[in-house]
Amino acid sequence: MIMKSFYKHLPIKRYGQNFLINKNTIQSIIKQINPKLKQTLVEIGPGLAALTEPMCMLLDKLIVIEIDSNLLKLLKKRSFYSKLIVFYKDALTFNYIDLFYQNHGLIRIFGNLPYNISTSLILYLFQQITVVQDMNFMLQKEVAERLVACPGNKSYGRLSIISQYYCSIKVLLNISPKDFWPIPKVYSVFVNLTPHINSPYFVYDVNILSLITNIAFQNRRKMLRHSLNKLFSEKTLIKLEINPELRAENISILQYCKLSNYLHKTRNRILKKI
Ligand code: SAM
Repeated sequence: MIMKSFYKHLPIKRYGQNFLINKNTIQSIIKQINPKLKQTLVEIGPGLAALTEPMCMLLDKLIVIEIDSNLLKLLKKRSFYSKLIVFYKDALTFNYIDLFYQNHGLIRIFGNLPYNISTSLILYLFQQITVVQDMNFMLQKEVAERLVACPGNKSYGRLSIISQYYCSIKVLLNISPKDFWPIPKVYSVFVNLTPHINSPYFVYDVNILSLITNIAFQNRRKMLRHSLNKLFSEKTLIKLEINPELRAENISILQYCKLSNYLHKTRNRILKKI
């Protein structure tokens, strides 16, 4: 069925259309997501239904969000279409919180994401995390490495800190470029992001965490006493038990939270300076 659909659709690059074609990989992905009848699953970018169809075999309803009207026309012809709640929308501006209020409860979001929007989409979804049970995404390998990176790792940065602040993240599968059509230039990784129930991290204001990481990682190799000098004096860093000679890439998420909460308390005075 997947092969037949190929002939009716020319992949659109700007929509990141690399369709899954390996049946074993598709089955492994469905197994990892492990959907249950009573859960509300939301697929971003159903495309030619590589994941949509097997998912519909296990569910009574499936919410899908797709930006390409041609793909939606093809979807309409499929036998499982009656199970779908279709949104012809951009996943980057979609209101996921509304789904919760439309009696769908907590949502489980999944998708083989268009790689050009995956980072922005994940950051956008964090803003609506209160209605999310979990997220299972196919990502470009480098993005997945950034999500799970620890301090000291070359991939560790803002995305690692903000993502791990919200979620616990697990790499589930490594996927070869040959499993897609057309074949992408990059390797892929399927990951699970589950919002913390008892978070190890606490900040009063996540915007301040975002601001500090933004400033710190503008110069990731600079010592903190230089890169963060507009926000914290050397004396303050020492008081917060953070070595001012360390660099942005060496500071743990807990330490970034400590910096954020200090700034939150003193913000009027310090934030005026920047
Ligand atoms: N799920 C299919 C699969 O695994 O074969 C297709 C995956 S393909 C990598 C990405 C899909 O996301 C395409 O169907 C594409 O049209 C859709 N898409 C791209 N940008 C989107 C956006 N901003 N909002 C919703 N869907 C989008």
